[in-house]
Amino acid sequence: MRLSRYFLPVLKENPSEAQIVSHRLMLRAGMIKQQSAGIYAWLPLGFKVLRKLENIVHEEQIRAGHIPMLMPTLQSADLWRESGRYDGYGEEMLRMQDRHGRDMLYSPTAEEMFTDVFRAHVNSYKDLPLTLYQIQWKFRDEIRPRFGVMRGREFYMKDGYNFDLSKEDALHAYNRHLVSYLRTYERMGLQAIPMRADSGPIGGDYTHEFLVLAETGESEVFYDSEITDLSFGDREIDYDSVEQCQAVLEEFTSRYARTDETHDEALFNQIPEERRRTARGIEVGQIFYFGTQYSDAMNAAVQGPDGKPVQIHMGSHGIGVSRLLGAIIEASHDENGIIWPEGVTPFHVGIVNLKQGDEEADAACEALYDSFTAAGLEPLYDDRKERAGGKFATMDLIGLPWRITVGPRGLKNGVVELTSRRTGESEELPPEQAVEKIIKIYANHRVTGL
Ligand code: ATP
Ligand code: MG
Repeated sequence: MRLSRYFLPVLKENPSEAQIVSHRLMLRAGMIKQQSAGIYAWLPLGFKVLRKLENIVHEEQIRAGHIPMLMPTLQSADLWRESGRYDGYGEEMLRMQDRHGRDMLYSPTAEEMFTDVFRAHVNSYKDLPLTLYQIQWKFRDEIRPRFGVMRGREFYMKDGYNFDLSKEDALHAYNRHLVSYLRTYERMGLQAIPMRADSGPIGGDYTHEFLVLAETGESEVFYDSEITDLSFGDREIDYDSVEQCQAVLEEFTSRYARTDETHDEALFNQIPEERRRTARGIEVGQIFYFGTQYSDAMNAAVQGPDGKPVQIHMGSHGIGVSRLLGAIIEASHDENGIIWPEGVTPFHVGIVNLKQGDEEADAACEALYDSFTAAGLEPLYDDRKERAGGKFATMDLIGLPWRITVGPRGLKNGVVELTSRRTGESEELPPEQAVEKIIKIYANHRVTGL
């Protein structure tokens, strides 16, 4: 992409309505624009990162054997009356009537609708296990939408639902989700810690929330510091293996890590004092096992091997895809702007031309641009006739992890400058070597985007 032809409405001033750094930087970097309280237009740069996150979630869900589909955002109230949640859900549910006076709602989550699809089409134990999921907009009429996309009213969420024949199978699905979520967050350059949580209106005994530690997080959390040494890394896992998934769950959940809702001071105090941590965290996902609650209420059973009906054990699993943008920025920025992890960056490398219009500099930039594009990478070429300082400030603000600076003086010596956004370190090297280096860096991070 050439910056002169892109739509990147960066703001020079700090927007006064933004209380936390991620909100401020998303507005300043031209990623989002507020349309109403908690409702945002996704401008091209924001949309690009959102798509990348979505793609990672899809890839990791499909890898775990889960099947993507898509539900409508508007649902009939009748399904929710069946499950008993229509009246109980409260003011967060946006309710409306169509022209015939039928009660409708904008889906805040979709247990009912997935259970409905399941009962309409699955009749036999032979069709199980089954996990269906979607990534779709949700609406919750939050009393206090704030912090930009972190607590929106309209937000983008992955929600998955497992259908199993027994509690044992459903707990395997629970563990499988935990593993797939660990992989997902790590690919986004995030450490998200599974913490024992409270099941709230969805119900059930088994639930973990995934939290990214950040001062601006809304949840108070308590954990054993040893947990932050764990990482999933690039280990291979067989998602069908009950033992392997169980082992990962045990590894990542055996140490103390809880939100304030489930915090137990006495247990916490058994950890050696130097390892006890109290901090704040951003909830980026949650997994639940809730048994037969919905399948009972909505009469979703299948025929078992002996011809008798078997009640379905279910769980649901959510990732806050749009909230993740804010969480990543909270975890990765400096005073000049965002610092995208390689796995989610909107463009892989920025090219800054110090002397636009200079024949040699222009040609060198074009050649770099073509080499990256041919390698399947997305460069952002700042080809505007602007001062170098302004170009650097924009690149720093939008946070591309790598920048190549091209100028007549360097080119005389056959070199360009390659700069890391994270460390600020620069090196001079021939253009071909800079290209090679960038391609190598992204070899393990490639996600198809827009
Ligand atoms: P919270 O406690 O933050 O209100 P929740 O527990 O009600 O969230 P879930 O039903 O578990 O949310 O939804 C799954 C995920 O969707 C959450 O882990 C969170 O990342 C995201 N999410 C929930 N509410 C919002 C919101 N208002 N804006 C953005 N993301 C949200
Ligand atoms: Mg939750």
